Amino acid sequence: MTKGKVVGVNGNMVTVEVQGDVSMNEVAFVYTAGKKLKAEVIRIRGRRAELQIFEMSRGIGIGDEVEFSADLLSVRLGPGLLAQIYDGLQNPLPELAARCGFFLERGVYLSPLDEEKKWAFTPLAKPGDAVTAADTLGTVPEGIFSHHIMVPFHRRDSLKVVKIAPAGDYRIRDTIAELEDDKGQRVPVTMSFSWPVKRPVTCYRERLRPIEPMVTKIRMIDTFFPVARGGTYCIPGPFGAGKTVLQQAISRNAEIDIVIIAACGERAGEVVETLKEFPKLSDPKTGRTLMERTIIICNTSSMPVAAREASVYTAVTLAEYYRQMGLHVLLLADSTSRWAQALREMSGRLEEIPGEEAFPAYLESVIAGFYERAGLVRLRDNRSGSITIGGTVSPAGGNFDEPVTQSTLKVVGAFHGLSRERSDARKYPAIHPLESWSKYSGLIDAVGTEYARDILFRGNEVNQMMKVVGEEGTSLEDYELFLKGEFIDSVYLQQDTFDPVDAAVSTERQRHLFRLLFTVLISRFDFDGKETARVFFNQMRQKFLDYNGSAWQGEEFKRLEIEIMSLLETRKNGLEEKGLRILEKFTLAK
Ligand code: ADP
Ligand code: MG
Repeated sequence: MTKGKVVGVNGNMVTVEVQGDVSMNEVAFVYTAGKKLKAEVIRIRGRRAELQIFEMSRGIGIGDEVEFSADLLSVRLGPGLLAQIYDGLQNPLPELAARCGFFLERGVYLSPLDEEKKWAFTPLAKPGDAVTAADTLGTVPEGIFSHHIMVPFHRRDSLKVVKIAPAGDYRIRDTIAELEDDKGQRVPVTMSFSWPVKRPVTCYRERLRPIEPMVTKIRMIDTFFPVARGGTYCIPGPFGAGKTVLQQAISRNAEIDIVIIAACGERAGEVVETLKEFPKLSDPKTGRTLMERTIIICNTSSMPVAAREASVYTAVTLAEYYRQMGLHVLLLADSTSRWAQALREMSGRLEEIPGEEAFPAYLESVIAGFYERAGLVRLRDNRSGSITIGGTVSPAGGNFDEPVTQSTLKVVGAFHGLSRERSDARKYPAIHPLESWSKYSGLIDAVGTEYARDILFRGNEVNQMMKVVGEEGTSLEDYELFLKGEFIDSVYLQQDTFDPVDAAVSTERQRHLFRLLFTVLISRFDFDGKETARVFFNQMRQKFLDYNGSAWQGEEFKRLEIEIMSLLETRKNGLEEKGLRILEKFTLAK
């Protein structure tokens, strides 16, 4: 084993004089005051290596012994990951807290998985089968999923199954299969193995273009700013704009299997809130706790910065592991700005040539590299799996013209701009309808959503004008446009997260509602003045809100729909040509 001695200390970076071989991203341990502190090699120059310490580096001194592990920073993979709350180094947090009190003791590393728990294994492979990396040898039930016990991902060679354990209960370290390589070497396989976090898992046949929407059941997202399964999106997160509420709503209702939350470097209070809230959330699919299909990786701003970086990679590696099982995973990283700050801090310590705002020049490629690990893939057995990544950014002062936001916007497929102005007005979700965008296709044909967006834009223009010239100075025609814009916002874009019906709207219901809304939007009216117009849209709005709160296709729903149509008839004076053609197109598509 390679050893070394500390020759320099600079915050949580130490310089080590190395005796022997060492490689980039190798894990090392620094022995300080009887403790073994975990670190990672981040630069090698001649016989000197720079290490970032994942722990509070206090007390480290010149001459301290260092041991290099020859392993890259890795995570343990195997059954039992779900429902866990880990720190960035995959230490289970509740257990750590139980052992060390609220402040985690340095140098304590616990097994990420329960070593003693027995799992009911069902073999699938047979002796004589040819297998390779990520092929399924058998399964164990984990929560509501069938967890695949796979050939470890680093065995890219062709192996033959020699022995496979019979169905029964096994611990994760028990050998459940014996394989043989082409040199006749025996390879025992257990239910768990490690994988280096910075190396993407690519044991699939091919990457596919993400086209199918990841239905979140939030109208504003699914209809106007959709996210594809296997796609990426970015959410700027001003404090109090509703990030946490939105994240929880998406975690509960989105059509995905597993949620991984990487709470990265936010204030301890917010992280604790996530940790407290999540186990309380119920899973609409099962009625049990959502934690059963969730993993939380958590790092607060009071933990060492190096661990933030680790937590982002740990999270995405766990996501890749479950994707290999043919599952759909949503990874929510909050906040990637804190992670970027950690990169900046280390880059400063390394005295690298800084880029914009002192971020390292490679910031953009690091961010791109992270989002590129999202994706929809076809596995070797033709099933598909996906990772969708949603990352929040929290730029200082809400200024998007800064390197982290800009680098992120270059690579993601959708942008959900949370707006302070909207949340102050209690318009939820506070996603800004004029500033957000998506490159993915959603539940509704784009010609329809563009038509509605155009009304939103023009309605907003009229609103701005009205602030200057007053209502009197506005034509009836413009005023109607303004009312239509407000109408779209209040009955379609805004959605009540706390209403049992309105909180989650199915694809079918979104399409149905959109068509009804659209019929109102393309209607020409014969209002005799602004007052009449205002009264009409107020009534219409109230009916739509009741309708949104009524059970899908129930008595009340059907009654309100008829009332909406007859209210429309009282004022409707024909339909707008272009809109009508679009409406016909939807109806045909259905
Ligand atoms: P953030 O995480 O961005 O700081 P939160 O998600 O904690 O903000 O939201 C702050 C407050 O705003 C919540 O406590 C809640 O009162 C209100 N809020 C946020 N989103 C919604 C929503 N969709 N519906 C109703 N109230 C909301
Ligand atoms: Mg929050």
